[in-house]
Amino acid sequence: MRSKRVLVTGSSRGIGRAIAQRLAQTGWSVALHYTNGEKEAKQTEKLLGTACTGVYRADLANPAKATELFSEALADGPIHAIVNNAGVYMPLDFLHSGDAAFKANLHKTFAVNFESPLMLIRAAAKHFEKNGGGKILNVASRVGFRGEGGAALYAASKASLINLTRSLAVELAPQKIQIFGVAPGWVDTAMAREGMEERYEQIKESIPLGRMATPTDCAATVAFLLSDDATYLSGVTIDINGASYFH
Ligand code: NAP
Repeated sequence: MRSKRVLVTGSSRGIGRAIAQRLAQTGWSVALHYTNGEKEAKQTEKLLGTACTGVYRADLANPAKATELFSEALADGPIHAIVNNAGVYMPLDFLHSGDAAFKANLHKTFAVNFESPLMLIRAAAKHFEKNGGGKILNVASRVGFRGEGGAALYAASKASLINLTRSLAVELAPQKIQIFGVAPGWVDTAMAREGMEERYEQIKESIPLGRMATPTDCAATVAFLLSDDATYLSGVTIDINGASYFH
């Protein structure tokens, strides 16, 4: 019998799927979430077997759906932790993009990468407060510390998440709520590969450890942060970048 349940957003594929699998292997029961990838979410469900305790659809481009997602998942069983993993990466030419494209990019990037995690955290924290505590994990990015030309809005959304993680670690500590982040550099998923085949080798060569991160590298760090081995950490966002950037 699994005693703790976690909701992982964007667990249909990529890093989210690896996190769901790793947490299932370490004794968590896992509530999965997807948006368009119903088929992929079903594959993740199959991989998890009996550790999967629900599969939920929500388009997090609408932050109100994040609150609904939490209520829906909670109706099927207690929740002890959440992982805000779902995200969108939409590079944009800051100067030369058209106004409509710029506004659409700003709106979607911040809705999915910041506002929805924020609303999910708020819903979860209210629940955790009444239930003796809980854990929150935010998947940020190296660019949230470093910035990134060509993806300024994405980088700013991840910086916001890192800063939120620090503030809420202080504010929610009395309620025994821990909140952490991870900041991966390039991770070998569809998000990283899209439109950059020609730069793929060059990127790998720029990483001192000689390779991109795998989703499993990220999942292992997340599993540690959500484990009983990390009871004195909060507010920290851990780099997973192969020694490619320090701050
Ligand atoms: P991915 O393979 O593109 O997967 C993205 C996940 O987010 C999918 O499960 C997708 O769900 C979900 N998602 C996308 N749009 C959504 C929306 N509107 N509402 C709800 N869910 C949505 O990306 P990944 O590489 O695994 O990235 C996971 C996280 O790691 C993201 O937060 C990303 O910013 C971060 N990250 C990635 C890298 C990298 O190099 N890959 C580096 C640093 C940080 P569906 O498929 O079901 O639509």
